[in-house]
Order: sequence, then structure tokens, then C-alpha cells
Amino acid sequence: MTTVAPLPDKDQCAICKTETGLNSCKSCLVVFYCGRDHQKEDWPTHKRFCKRTKMTRETNWRALEHLKQLLEENPNDNPRDFFASHPDDVNAYLHVRYIYARAILRLGTRSGVEGALESCLEIVGMDRNNEQNGQDARDHVPTLFLRLGRNKECYDFLKENCVGDLEEIYACDENGALRQPADAEKLSLAHAAMLSLLKVRILIDLPHLQSADDFVGDKLPTELSDQIRSYDIGAATKIDAARMKAIEKHEDLVPLMKKLKAELKDLRVYVNALNKDYWAAILDPEKYKNMQPMYQPELPIVQALSQTYDAWAETPEALACWKGLCEDWGVEGGVADAAEGAADASDEWVDVD
Ligand SMILES: [Zn+2]
Ligand SMILES: [Zn+2]
Repeated sequence: MTTVAPLPDKDQCAICKTETGLNSCKSCLVVFYCGRDHQKEDWPTHKRFCKRTKMTRETNWRALEHLKQLLEENPNDNPRDFFASHPDDVNAYLHVRYIYARAILRLGTRSGVEGALESCLEIVGMDRNNEQNGQDARDHVPTLFLRLGRNKECYDFLKENCVGDLEEIYACDENGALRQPADAEKLSLAHAAMLSLLKVRILIDLPHLQSADDFVGDKLPTELSDQIRSYDIGAATKIDAARMKAIEKHEDLVPLMKKLKAELKDLRVYVNALNKDYWAAILDPEKYKNMQPMYQPELPIVQALSQTYDAWAETPEALACWKGLCEDWGVEGGVADAAEGAADASDEWVDVD
């Protein structure tokens, strides 16, 4: 289980982590340095990814120029018709745009994640035929929102992109069976995984709350922050000594924590039905990362890991919290048992060209 530091709030020098007086690498544009010395020092490590990023950005730019040229040649097309009448050209652009997003993500900086999110949102907006590039980008968006600490936007995106009520479609009955058959079109594996992480984040944060006002602003989905406010955390903790406050505060939150845990239990079953390896894979990613056969389409589990794992690893305590929950439920590591989930469902989930 590897936990890495969350993304910093601001860009930093790749060597000394200073946040002021930075200039970006002129080639990839998303890695920053305080000066020439640190850029030189980083170059041996940075070189390979930097060159690749520059190359994909240029390919991206050429594909965009090609689209612009087509638009100029067909001035009477409105952009919507244009996408319908030139699907191959649009898809070629979306494809390189997604490759570019993946390339800047590998650089591991805040600007890289922001740029990848921007690219993925653009792809989702342009992809009118629900092609593979659009699906891949759509699957990637919630992770990028979470990595940037934009929890509310993550939740809103998940809600917009699912067919039906987000909080209902993964629910189980009292016997632990999915109330509806798992349907990848309703909530994809990557989306269900990130909804799980969002709920884990709230579960971790609740006991540390000083007051309901901690959740003011854009940190949480409105539905959840309203619920938290309704427990009136602040009022319950005003009179007592500090320690008592903490305990009362905690007790006050017990019903909400119980609810979150029950939802997470359902989500575990839902994800298992889509891919029986996912929960084992986030606890032991190295084992699964190397499963990719040469010259073969990415395995669904490898793709799901590459789309979601960073958000788990960058959330302090998230993987430990998940492991603890699974132990409480008597399912160590969250691995599916024989009776639960459709073992073959994962094969249908993604169809990589
Ligand atoms: Zn520096
Ligand atoms: Zn660079």
C-alpha cells in the first residue's frame, strides 16, 4: 500500500519545491523550476517524458490546425454539423488530445493534472458519438477533479454522467445483492471507484471537523454538506472542555458515518460486479500494473488502475481506511468472493481498439 503526498496547492520547483519565482520548462510547459541550476539538475530524469510530451503536444496542435482548416473550407457548417459530417477528423483530434493528456499526467505536477483535466473535459464536450476517446476521457475526469481537491465538481460530474439517480443505482438489498443488475452504462468502473473514494474522503474528514462551517464553499456536494449541517456540529460542542467536545462531536456524526459506511459497502459490491480485481488491485497495484500483455489492448483492470489509482494514493489515509472497512465487513482487501459479482462482466466493460 503506497500513499504519496497529495498534489501541492501550487506549482513547485521540481527540485527544491519552492513556490515563488518559477519558470516553466519551455518544452513541456508543465514542469517548473526556480532557476537554471535546478532545471539542469533535473534534466537527466525529466528528459525522456519532456520530449515525449512536447511531441504529443505538437501532434495535437497539427490535428487541431487540420480541424480549423476544414472549418474554413466549409464556412457554412455550424460546428455541431461539422462534427457529424467529419467524424474521422474529429476523432483523430480527440485521440491525440487524449494521448497528450496522458503524457502531461506522467509529469506529476499540478499544472500537468490541470492541463489533463482541461483536455479531458474538452474531449467529453466534443465527443458526440460516445467514441472510445470520449469514454476514456469521461472515465478519467472524476479522478482528476479529486486529485485537485475539487470534490464537489467531481460529484456533479458523476451525477451528470450517470443514467438514473447516482445514489440509487449501485444500492444493494438487505441480503447484499445489487438491487438492479450492474450495468456499466449507468456508472462505469472508474466512476464507481471515484464515487467510493469521494465517500471515503468524507468519512476520513468527518471526525476532524471543527464545525459544519468547515464544509462551506465548494468542498463538498451540496446534498452532503446540507446533511452535515443538519447535525449542527458546532452547537453541540460549544460548552464542554476540548476533549468532551471532540467526543460529542463524534457521536453527533455517528448516524452520518453509519450511512456513509453502508453506501461504501454497496459500492464495493457494485464495483466487484464490474471487475472482480479492482479492490485487490488498488491495495497491490504493482502486481496488476505488469499484467499488460505486449501489443495487446490494455486489460480493463490495468486501464481502471491507470485512470483512478493516483487519486487513492494521494489521499492520506484513504487506502488504510478502505482496508479497515473491508476488515469490518469480513472481506479482506475487498476481494470478491465466489458468490458475488459477475466474474466476466469486466470483459464487456471496455472495448479498446
Ligand atoms: Zn529549485
Ligand atoms: Zn519539460
